[in-house]
Amino acid sequence: MARQILPVADRAQVRAYARRLALKYPKQLGGALALHALGAIAGLAGPLLLGQLVEAVSTGAPIDVDTLVLAFAGFVIAQAVLIRFAVYASSALGERVLAELREEFVDQVLALPLSTVEKAGSGDLITRTSRDVDALSRTVRQAVPETLIAVVTGVFMLGGLLIVAPLLALPSLIAVPLLWISTRWYLKRARDGYLRENAAYADMTEGLAETVEGARTVESLGLHDRRRARTDTDIARSFAAERYTLGLRMVWFPAVEMGYVIPVAATVLFGGLFYIEGWVTIAQVTAAILYVQQLVDPLDRLLSWIDELQVGGASMARLLGVANVRDDRVSTGVQADGEELRATDVRYAYRDGHDVLHGIDLDIRPGERLAMVGPSGAGKSTLGRLLAGIHGPRTGTVTVGGAPLVDLPLDELRGHVALVTQEHHVFRGTLRDNVLIARPDATDPEVRRALEAVDAWEWVSAMGLDTVVGSGGTAVTPAHAQQLALARLVLADPHTLVLDEATSLIDPRAARNLERSLAAVLDGRTVIAIAHRLYTAHDADRVAVVEDGRISELGSHHDLVAAKGAYAALWDSWHGKSR
Ligand code: ADP
Repeated sequence: MARQILPVADRAQVRAYARRLALKYPKQLGGALALHALGAIAGLAGPLLLGQLVEAVSTGAPIDVDTLVLAFAGFVIAQAVLIRFAVYASSALGERVLAELREEFVDQVLALPLSTVEKAGSGDLITRTSRDVDALSRTVRQAVPETLIAVVTGVFMLGGLLIVAPLLALPSLIAVPLLWISTRWYLKRARDGYLRENAAYADMTEGLAETVEGARTVESLGLHDRRRARTDTDIARSFAAERYTLGLRMVWFPAVEMGYVIPVAATVLFGGLFYIEGWVTIAQVTAAILYVQQLVDPLDRLLSWIDELQVGGASMARLLGVANVRDDRVSTGVQADGEELRATDVRYAYRDGHDVLHGIDLDIRPGERLAMVGPSGAGKSTLGRLLAGIHGPRTGTVTVGGAPLVDLPLDELRGHVALVTQEHHVFRGTLRDNVLIARPDATDPEVRRALEAVDAWEWVSAMGLDTVVGSGGTAVTPAHAQQLALARLVLADPHTLVLDEATSLIDPRAARNLERSLAAVLDGRTVIAIAHRLYTAHDADRVAVVEDGRISELGSHHDLVAAKGAYAALWDSWHGKSR
């Protein structure tokens, strides 16, 4: 099931944004449209000249064919040149708008609160950044300019027709109701039809993949029939969905094709009649038929891009929706006064109405080592993330030096507390950049000191700070990657670290080396360790036992063992086992 927590913009917002985007460069837009208009005007000359030729031939009037042909050629060339520049101008504008759209989107994505990203899962965001951006770029690059061109050309063709022979515009009107009604009919059903088709297809793929991945389970539990039945149902649903949209096309396409042919036929027919009646000249009929014929192309384009525009609109709604995420931290300008981290009556819920922390009070003394122990699922990691300011508490406060963590700007917060996890992503860039992420204004000597502190300077200097690493660059071993992550911490220099042992430093081959690097980072800082190995708790200044979202015991190892409570039991069983 797709979790969709990131919002989607509504129609009004998309429309307002599209308007703003369209009018952002009025000069360039006006220029491109003017060029297209001139091209269309040049295209109007051809039929007129041909009309004259036909007129001259049929009445036997004298005519300078050479000049006519020359003029004809001139207009064709002029049209080609104008259209070339028109397409260039509109493409350049499209690319520019697209580039800005992308940049804006990237800014918004990067500004997303971490808690939202985690809740939404990466799937939705990745789909938005890849599929939706692609769909939107197709719209901006092709659908919008093509539609505009079609509209401009169509309007001028129609204008030409009305000027040359207003009477001959009437027969084309026969097709309007046909095109209008059939297209409306189609569009009303198409969106849902295609959505259903995609969904049915996704279901089928998912079911098949599941069967293949779980082949052993299927075999051992004898689930063959059930899996086959599910696949059959999926195929049937997908088939029905495809049939439905095919049915829609079977109605719409012929209707549209007829809508194209009918005006031409009607103009020929009525043109002949009007000519016999003496209402129009043969030159007018010729030009009118050619105009109507030429109107088909822009009309066809217009209709075929309507779908695409809708797809683009849907993608745009999803991209714009990202901007609707409410920020979970507002820097209020409060200043931290001191280094003391304090949680007061903290409650937190991942889902509304389901608190996982129930009123936690905890003062952490500067410089102390606090170990958090307790059964899995008790809320240790959650509390750790709150103490690192990643999530804000639902009620209650987490403060550093009196300032709520969520009121501090991110870069300032990171100077106070940081969460140390196993995540040791190496970003594409130089080794220097990889360390500088923590504090972009740091100097080379500072970077060097940070790397020295975690025992990484030797290999980094051997490679050179300018070596490009990350995807596509020089490979970095996991242990080295972790050292880089630790060097970032040293550079950011927070006075307090929240350390999740379960997820940090688990590569046993590199463990010894990394323990040293980590010890260097921890030295002189306040450390809150989510302890999974009880000797961490044994060595800590204080131990907090977290049970069911509450701190049930708090004290030094010796006090807690002497108290013979939950911790003592835990220690006994662990100690007993390890002996
Ligand atoms: P611990 O670290 O002690 O194992 P956690 O803080 O990870 O405990 O989990 C506390 C409770 O919160 C558990 O019931 C867990 O299922 C729930 N929980 C943890 N992370 C999430 C999440 N991202 N979304 C929803 N529930 C979560």
